[in-house]
Amino acid sequence: MQFLKNNYKNIIKNVAAVSLSLCMFTSPVFSSAASYDQQISDKQENIDSLESEKSALEDLVSQKQDELSSISSEIAKLESDKLAMMTTEEMAIAELEFIKQSILDSEKEIESMEKQLGELEETLVQRASIMYQNSDINWLAVFFEADNIFDFFDRIEAYKQVAKEDADLLEKVKSDKQQLELKKDQQVRLFSEKEVLLAEIESAIEDIKNKTEITEGKYAALSKLLAEMEEEESRLDDEISTMTGELENLEEKKRREEEEKRRQEEERKKQEEDKKKQEEAIKNQQGNNNTNVPSRGETNTNFCWPVASYFYVSSPFGYRTHPITHKWSMHTGVDLAASSGTAIYAAQSGVVEISTTNGGGYGYYVKIQHANGMETLYAHCSKLLVSEGETVQRGQKIAEVGKTGAATGSHLHFEVIKNGEYVQPLDYVSDDVH
Ligand SMILES: [Zn+2]
Repeated sequence: MQFLKNNYKNIIKNVAAVSLSLCMFTSPVFSSAASYDQQISDKQENIDSLESEKSALEDLVSQKQDELSSISSEIAKLESDKLAMMTTEEMAIAELEFIKQSILDSEKEIESMEKQLGELEETLVQRASIMYQNSDINWLAVFFEADNIFDFFDRIEAYKQVAKEDADLLEKVKSDKQQLELKKDQQVRLFSEKEVLLAEIESAIEDIKNKTEITEGKYAALSKLLAEMEEEESRLDDEISTMTGELENLEEKKRREEEEKRRQEEERKKQEEDKKKQEEAIKNQQGNNNTNVPSRGETNTNFCWPVASYFYVSSPFGYRTHPITHKWSMHTGVDLAASSGTAIYAAQSGVVEISTTNGGGYGYYVKIQHANGMETLYAHCSKLLVSEGETVQRGQKIAEVGKTGAATGSHLHFEVIKNGEYVQPLDYVSDDVH
């Protein structure tokens, strides 16, 4: 019992140690999948350990329940023994009472015999006195009362006979009394034997009562232990369920992180492919035109190259002699030489601010408003494909190259406006060919 109790305490201690180590494992914040793997494996290990503690505890509980049930039947047996013993006790008490009564009866009888004996002795003494000693007896009167001498002797004989019968009776009563005394002695012995037996029965009952008390004490202690163990079992259950929840959480985090990595990897690959395609396109264009290629955009707007297939900047941004007026003036965009009808693309997603065929020197032109105070403008178009207020996507075809307005030949006049100011378009546009 004590041994098992110690075992149980050890289990509790082990469980506490596991819980502690668990806290140490779960506290740090990890972010990589590898550390999630480590955490998941640690957590799984701890759950396994808790499961095995629980299983050991369950075995112990089952063992204790058996023990409890055996103690319970022991108590029931003791109770039934006690009842049987108490019945025996009652019978012994009744028997003692009966013997006691018999002894009393015998004593009374002996007393009455003694009285009878006394009377008989007295009678005999009187008769003897009458016959032999007492001078008061008038033998002469007896003689004269007799009819003849024979009658006289007969009368004497009759006295003798009476005296003899008295003596016989005395002897018989004496003998009866002796027998009765023997019987009484036997009853007294029996009584004391029965008294010893009763004392033994009472002591046995006392023993059973003590045993019952001890066994009931055991039962109570074991019940308490069992209740504690069952409570511990339920605590373990809770802990396992919490930990399983944490494990699922970790696995979900890991899954999300892996998904995010996969997505990023795909994005990276796509960007690499796009870059390769673009580089190939540039190479092809260089081979075809052998003209100057604009530098890449250095800003973060990620504008795409606004015209298909053509990369030749026929007139740069900034001050120059105007090709028509021949005056030194500011060129607010870049001119990208391209044949008429070439597709013009929205450099970035946005909302069409202006789409007009009445643009003066710009001719047909489109102006798009983008995020972060950016705008782009596409002029000298031959054809407009979008209308004002329309939302357009980056790389969407919005117009075709032409030479409407003040233009000497087919080209796209492309402007980038930042917070209302003209800026160098080549700083914003990438060589990302649509
Ligand atoms: Zn221009």
